[in-house]
Amino acid sequence: MHILTIQKSVPVVGVYDVVVCGGGPAGFIAAVTAAREGAQTALIERFGFLGGMATAGYVTPISEFKFDDAVVIGGIPWEFIQRLEAMGGAFVEPTIGNVAFDPELYKLCAQRMALEAGVHLYMNSYLSGCVRQDGVIRQAIIENKNGTEAVEGRYFIDATGDADLAHLAGVPMQPMNGESLQPLSTYFILQGVDTDSPIIREAMHHSKQGENCHCLPIRERLLGMTKTEDLPNFGGPWFCTLLRDGAVTVNMTRAAADACDNRDYTRAECELREDVFRLTDVLRRNFEEFRNCRVAGVSVQAGIRETRRIRGVHTITGQEYLSAVHYPDSIAHGMHPIDIHSSQQGQQYTHFLDRPSYVPYRALIAPDYPNLLAAGRCLSADRQAFASLRVQGSCMEMGQAAGAAAALCAQEDVPVQQADIFRLLARLRALGALL
Ligand SMILES: Cc1cc2nc3c(=O)[nH]c(=O)nc-3n(C[C@H](O)[C@H](O)[C@H](O)COP(=O)(O)OP(=O)(O)OC[C@H]3O[C@@H](n4cnc5c(N)ncnc54)[C@H](O)[C@@H]3O)c2cc1C
Repeated sequence: MHILTIQKSVPVVGVYDVVVCGGGPAGFIAAVTAAREGAQTALIERFGFLGGMATAGYVTPISEFKFDDAVVIGGIPWEFIQRLEAMGGAFVEPTIGNVAFDPELYKLCAQRMALEAGVHLYMNSYLSGCVRQDGVIRQAIIENKNGTEAVEGRYFIDATGDADLAHLAGVPMQPMNGESLQPLSTYFILQGVDTDSPIIREAMHHSKQGENCHCLPIRERLLGMTKTEDLPNFGGPWFCTLLRDGAVTVNMTRAAADACDNRDYTRAECELREDVFRLTDVLRRNFEEFRNCRVAGVSVQAGIRETRRIRGVHTITGQEYLSAVHYPDSIAHGMHPIDIHSSQQGQQYTHFLDRPSYVPYRALIAPDYPNLLAAGRCLSADRQAFASLRVQGSCMEMGQAAGAAAALCAQEDVPVQQADIFRLLARLRALGALL
């Protein structure tokens, strides 16, 4: 391989208090929060819609807002769920508050909330670089149909899931210690499923505390078919309602790959697309409930469970997490089981929590990066704690905290490491967070 050196003059197309990179569950909530807290806010997103894994990956349901039937994640994330529900686009399951949703209404609701708050959207814009001077990130570099552009900010929130901005800025990442990443899974939508049948009705509502919601009767029969059917590696299967008769999302495919390596990710995307149709064929031929089904949609991107996470001021360990350590700067919760999927076989390690656990503000910031916060999947946690905190409810709550913190630091003109925690917690409670 030979290397080209390219020099470019790039226009600075906007100057903001807060620039959020990534418009998934963590990012769009971060942007709405920062804007409502009075910060001039920009949101950079590579797709032409918001929602990240929820909408580009069809990852359903949104987990989890409740523990023992009591709402734990409040504020702007919960407001979003209630608005989506009022639009006919969400169904909140009892007990654990998992949320089944319509991905198209999700996009619309998220976009409305961002625009109403005054967020400047840079959609169809890929974050490809950043300028860092004297330790401070000055501009995010984006690529879109206008060419290469720069978006300037006083504070930046990395909500790209893969910690792209932090990586580009040189933030050290969590070590992998020789372990393999959790597998990728491409979700798909099946139409024409017998959603009135007892097996599917039971499987598509994920509402039981302390239970893996995969469809055991179908899993057991599939495992018995490994000699008669040419079955690819599969997990679950998990089915989820799409709030309309005859349609379910399916989480079943899986492939080992590093989604931050372009060639590996490309290979996995292609394999997983083949597997969607192979598995649908197996379901159609062997299970009465799927006899008339067809693939109505394949997620825009393969679902990514795990990639880069920052090495923050504090790294949440599995031990802390399982003991539900409450920190003086707790800003978010986790309620999902520790849920580690094996990339080699369709196996899964699951450990259910006795009570909600916590995320400290210090897990969203890195030492030596005075104007950068990370929210969502790229937080600072070890593999165990991360394997629970990666779900969308927790990512949204981290987004809310990062947005409020960035707006507060912008008002006080202080580095993120010197945020006034007492004021931050007060602002989060005022927004409805249940801390
Ligand atoms: C197979 C699978 C099953 C899952 N099951 C569940 C479940 O049952 N319940 C649950 O709640 N969660 C589940 N999850 C986890 C959950 O979907 C994600 O961890 C969560 O969406 C992470 O949110 P995020 O905002 O941090 O990142 P993401 O949702 O990944 O959002 C990141 C956003 O940043 C954008 N972006 C990324 N890079 C760039 C760039 N360079 N430039 C511009 N934009 C960029 C992306 O397009 C995206 O919109 C599952 C995930 C997978 C893969």
